[in-house]
Amino acid sequence: MPTTNQRLTTRIGYGFDSHEFHPGIPLKIGGITLAHDKGLGGHSDGDVLLHAIADALLGAVAAPDIGALFPPSDPKWKGADSVVFLREALKRVHDAGYGVANLDASLILAAPKIGPHAAAIRVRVAELLEVRSDCVGVKAKTPEGLNQENAAVAHVVVLLEQQRVPKKSRQANKE
Ligand code: MG
Repeated sequence: MPTTNQRLTTRIGYGFDSHEFHPGIPLKIGGITLAHDKGLGGHSDGDVLLHAIADALLGAVAAPDIGALFPPSDPKWKGADSVVFLREALKRVHDAGYGVANLDASLILAAPKIGPHAAAIRVRVAELLEVRSDCVGVKAKTPEGLNQENAAVAHVVVLLEQQRVPKKSRQANKE
């Protein structure tokens, strides 16, 4: 049986999210604002990619998911910048003794085209995750045959690498 002192040197995380397009609100994907006539609805700023990344990070360290940490029922998170969610997820990764090795994301949406913005999204996500931009992959597909023209979907996998002894174990060692 594994004990709390046995550490994994790598961990994988997976995150998924989807949001519906609504007219007249800003479109935020990956921490940047894209010019479009519709944005993604939701209790926060609707950043489908940052939500999926946060869930991938949280899942990798077996933490509660984004909905549990930042419940949509809490008015505190209304219109919130999703960067706040991502920072909390990254903090939990670091507190557990890990850092991000690399991340790969697939976005599925009919419009706007992500290709022209993919480099900017990769740079912003890398900055938020404290990694180089060549450690962040961002791909986009159109929803062929999926009948989801009015939604944006994000799938994310992340690999974590052990960086140091986690906070909890250090405390336990002192006791
Ligand atoms: Mg979401």
